[in-house]
Amino acid sequence: MSTTLIVGACQAGVQIASVLRERGDTGPILLVGEEAHRPYQRPPLSKGWIKGELQPDDVILRTREWFAERDIELVTGDRIVTVHRSPDGTGVATTEGGRRIEFDRLALTTGASARRLPLEGTDYHGVHYLRDADQAIALQPALADEQAKNVVVIGGGFIGLETAAVARGLGKNVTVLEAAPRLVGRVVAEETSAFYLDAHRRRGIDVVLDARIRGILGGDARVAGAQGSVTGVELEDGTVIPADLVLIGVGVIPRTELADQLGLAVDGGIVVDSAARASDGMTVAAGDCTLMPNPYPLGIGGSIRLESVNNALEQAKIAAATLLGEEAEYRSVPWFWSDQGDLKLQIAGLSTGYDQVIVRGEPDSEKFSVLYYREGRLIAADVVNHPVEFLAVKSALAKGGTIPPDAARDTTVPLKSAVVLPDAATV
Ligand SMILES: Cc1cc2nc3c(=O)[nH]c(=O)nc-3n(C[C@H](O)[C@H](O)[C@H](O)COP(=O)(O)OP(=O)(O)OC[C@H]3O[C@@H](n4cnc5c(N)ncnc54)[C@H](O)[C@@H]3O)c2cc1C
Repeated sequence: MSTTLIVGACQAGVQIASVLRERGDTGPILLVGEEAHRPYQRPPLSKGWIKGELQPDDVILRTREWFAERDIELVTGDRIVTVHRSPDGTGVATTEGGRRIEFDRLALTTGASARRLPLEGTDYHGVHYLRDADQAIALQPALADEQAKNVVVIGGGFIGLETAAVARGLGKNVTVLEAAPRLVGRVVAEETSAFYLDAHRRRGIDVVLDARIRGILGGDARVAGAQGSVTGVELEDGTVIPADLVLIGVGVIPRTELADQLGLAVDGGIVVDSAARASDGMTVAAGDCTLMPNPYPLGIGGSIRLESVNNALEQAKIAAATLLGEEAEYRSVPWFWSDQGDLKLQIAGLSTGYDQVIVRGEPDSEKFSVLYYREGRLIAADVVNHPVEFLAVKSALAKGGTIPPDAARDTTVPLKSAVVLPDAATV
């Protein structure tokens, strides 16, 4: 009977364990996570959790009973620090707590950690990052504190903007500092960035683009050896933005330490093939820690690292099938969502390599879609507050269909009825 070790107990790791059991695998499964918490969902951390609306049970992925019923050994609060694998596939790992684990199959679902900002002053009290539950647990009361009137968010990506929206909703004076010339520029078209800039400004958030930060300022206590509190953020032009709380959201670094130890190919993520297999041909990896070939963006190919729940779950299914010796290939349409206050963004497909953008509907109505095309073919869409259109695009992409640009512009025709499929199938 094969023993499976899964390192990293979150979306991808839990999914691999779940699928192994669903498919009848009866061998021992150990799911080891370094965080002290039961496996939980990260998306609510920057939404309902920091708003103070959620309890731990609202965000956990599975109950203790669920793991017990499936005979999956869940280890929390212990980190795998060494791992070794022999050419025959057997291996041994050790934990920080001193446990030795022998295994026959290995899955790495180690995720990513928040990228640190190399600036003076990030150690002041009141400076936060938001990647894990402990950081969210620290941020929530800090945001709720009525003394914290001025909030500065460094980074105009999804986590920064979601946090900014929550802070504004709590009545704070909020400033977002983005180094790039537009918001969420890595992921969406200028049209979508421009909408978010206007929408957040309409709600009273101050957004500074092309922001150049000199450092984070704080109380003198730090000089005396104790840790002072943050008082502001200084820009290179000398402007000081007052801050009682700073949230830094400047991306993540994939956790590849164990892959490095195993000598696996790593290129800004653990390199895997479309069956979620790493370069040794034995270890599988899934989720935020991987760099994988993706059929999207359509027709371009290439490898990509995705940070989304959907990807972690879909890739984990493939990884589990590969561990079971089945033929499996990652094919699913990538999708993602971001809730920024009352603005729900849903993205279907990957927009990389687009050569045409159609804005469908009126952005000022805060309900519209941005459709991306390459050589006349639909490759992705950003959909704001319009789940029906998101589903139409996602379904069209999954079936290899498209929506002709002219039809996409015509808001009198439901998007779903404008879908053209490669065969006679219906959407
Ligand atoms: C605040 C926030 C909001 C988000 N919002 C959205 C959203 O709205 N929509 C969306 O699609 N996605 C969202 N995401 C992204 C999504 O949560 C991630 O893509 C997803 O969690 C990836 O799952 P994963 O299992 O690959 O990695 P992770 O969730 O990062 O889990 C990896 C786990 O492995 C553990 N680990 C690492 N190394 C070791 C080791 N050596 N030993 C033991 N354990 C180890 C880590 O501690 C971690 O618990 C959000 C993320 C954050 C942080």
